[in-house]
Amino acid sequence: MEKTLNLFQEISKRLLQDEQSHPVSHFIPSEEVFEKLDLSLQETAMVEEDFAASLTQIVLASPKTATRAFFNQLFGGRNEKAVLGDLLAVMLNNSMYTYKAAGAQIGVEKVILDTVCKMIGWGEHGGGTIAPGGSMTNFMGMLMARDAKDANIRKGGFSQKMTVYTSTESHYSIPKNASFSGIGRQQVRYIPVDDFGKMIPSELGKAIQEDIQQGFTPTLVNATAGTTVLGAFDDIPAISEICKKHKIWLHVDGAYCGSVLFSNRYKHLIKGVAGVDSFSFNAHKMIGTPLSCSLLLVKDKKHLYQSFSNEADYLYQTDEDEFNPGKTSLQCGRRNDALKFWTLWKSVGTKGLEAIVDKQFELANVARKYVENHPDYTLYSFENSISVCFNYKGIPARDICTGLYEDSELMVGFGTFQDTEFIRLVTINAQNDPQDIHNFFEILEAFVEKHALAPTLKTS
Ligand SMILES: *Cc1c(COP(=O)(O)O)cnc(C)c1O
Repeated sequence: MEKTLNLFQEISKRLLQDEQSHPVSHFIPSEEVFEKLDLSLQETAMVEEDFAASLTQIVLASPKTATRAFFNQLFGGRNEKAVLGDLLAVMLNNSMYTYKAAGAQIGVEKVILDTVCKMIGWGEHGGGTIAPGGSMTNFMGMLMARDAKDANIRKGGFSQKMTVYTSTESHYSIPKNASFSGIGRQQVRYIPVDDFGKMIPSELGKAIQEDIQQGFTPTLVNATAGTTVLGAFDDIPAISEICKKHKIWLHVDGAYCGSVLFSNRYKHLIKGVAGVDSFSFNAHKMIGTPLSCSLLLVKDKKHLYQSFSNEADYLYQTDEDEFNPGKTSLQCGRRNDALKFWTLWKSVGTKGLEAIVDKQFELANVARKYVENHPDYTLYSFENSISVCFNYKGIPARDICTGLYEDSELMVGFGTFQDTEFIRLVTINAQNDPQDIHNFFEILEAFVEKHALAPTLKTS
């Protein structure tokens, strides 16, 4: 094992060096990936040096997500203390279903979940779990909503047509989860948004009323804290009032920006979260842990047990339910995603997590100001968002983004709102500095100049 750990160190060092000289990996078209890289598997063992060489080649050829040139997705950077925690989780290889199998690590996860519940404002009934991704935490939220509405579904299946409400700007996992849960994609109601990308509460109220009249059973409202494109925050208090009136479960999908919970300056964006039924956020997005680290928090943890516990004598042989979180999980064996969050939190403190969140808004402000102050740019996003959406010289966003990618200059993506496509710069890497944001625009402008990219006739 020691030899292999040395190899790990060697390859990691090579990667760190390469990130400095080539912050964007050399572009390999997907149809050439099997030719360009030694990916094939053989019958016989490999000579150790050849193995190391192949592995190094693949590592260096992979997209670099930790550098100052990666703005493509809703994650980025590399927090070393969190990486340390994740590496140790792999070494330990505990499975997070029982105290017997995971011991101290169950305590690590419990401390995180209990502390977050307290920060939300929930008392002893609050609880949660860590699941493999925000799509999954949204799914678990939907299942709890379904079972809370009709406890018989777990045994007897559906006896009524349930409906789900979410904004047109919400994440695509909502309709997917509606199909998995048996509620059905057709029973998802997409509520229109205002010009800022926020769900319009009065439209939600109307849609619910109509469904009740038609004989449907409104079951779940999904509000979004940080929509995927614009980074908009739905108005939780207004939506909450409607849900309370009709006794509908309210889940807040904060996968992208729910971590504002850690910032005294920005937690007002999720004001009212204490009043919702469930709330999820991805620590692998704003907090910056390695993928994945997705927390699901529930105001009353009895719902987790109602939807996910199952007796299993071969598994649950010691300790109280509290210490056997397999009973509140969709999975059986479960990876330890808690330790990386804990190592980070333990080392920088809650104040350090707050600084991580605040830094992203600071960088977004730098980017937004730049766009506003340069007449060649058009801005489409708003304050209090770490997604900065813009177009440059009327050039199609996808031309710029794809070109930058193929030329290994920058990784950035594009999105659409109200029929306009634009570049979406995400300032989620808190390790970046304002200078990195300025460099981003410099590289983009030089690229456009070099390739003489032209605007389309349509200017908007
Ligand atoms: C990223 C995201 C998700 C999905 O989270 P995964 O961890 O990628 O599954 C869900 N909702 C929103 C708003 C997101 O931004």
